[in-house]
Amino acid sequence: MRLIFLGPPGAGKGTQARELAREWGVPQVATGDMLREAVAAGTALGREARTYMDRGALVPDDVIVGLIRERLSQPDAKRGFILDGFPRTIPQAQALDRLLADLEQRLDRVIYFQVSDEELLRRLTGRRSCPRCQSTYHLIFNPPQRPGVCDRCGTALVEREDDREETVRHRLRVYRDQTAPLLDYYRGRGLLATVPGEGAIEAIRAAIRRAAEVAA
Ligand code: AMP
Repeated sequence: MRLIFLGPPGAGKGTQARELAREWGVPQVATGDMLREAVAAGTALGREARTYMDRGALVPDDVIVGLIRERLSQPDAKRGFILDGFPRTIPQAQALDRLLADLEQRLDRVIYFQVSDEELLRRLTGRRSCPRCQSTYHLIFNPPQRPGVCDRCGTALVEREDDREETVRHRLRVYRDQTAPLLDYYRGRGLLATVPGEGAIEAIRAAIRRAAEVAA
């Protein structure tokens, strides 16, 4: 199963990718999570990435492609993967094509999460996440059992720097300008499957399973 989860920030890609990766026994490859880990660890990559992330801009393609090349070459990615948050630009998608050709692999499906802008703003500005296990919550739609504490591992929840309203608006513009063109790129190859990103989490998950099974 080699899938891309494509959609705007806040569409629910991470939430669904985490569960389905576990269910299917493949890694969730989330570039945003990988970059946040590098930032937290204070590596050179993290220091560079942070200057882009904090203002809601994209990290340069060559940095991201290097990260993905290394990750997809790991043994656990041989059987499949869910790409979550990558590719985000046409050059990234082209680099992924070359990388998969080198690895003698091919994509099975690109799952597009369709969500309205108003809903994205509502979701992103109330979002809280666990800095330790990356679980995500929402103050209104999906609060943790104990306020401010992760249900899964007990760590104090944080608001992502880039989830402030101004930055969120900027991230949505960046998505529209740089990432949305990927819809046509993958539609043209017959790989695109659209799922509604609004509604009950379980119902959305079922729609993703159906879209992915057609490809399998
Ligand atoms: P995310 O958690 O996927 O919303 O990513 C958070 C931030 O990490 C983005 O706003 C970008 O600054 C950076 N980032 C994550 N994935 C990519 C990517 N594929 N290309 C460029 N920047 C990325």
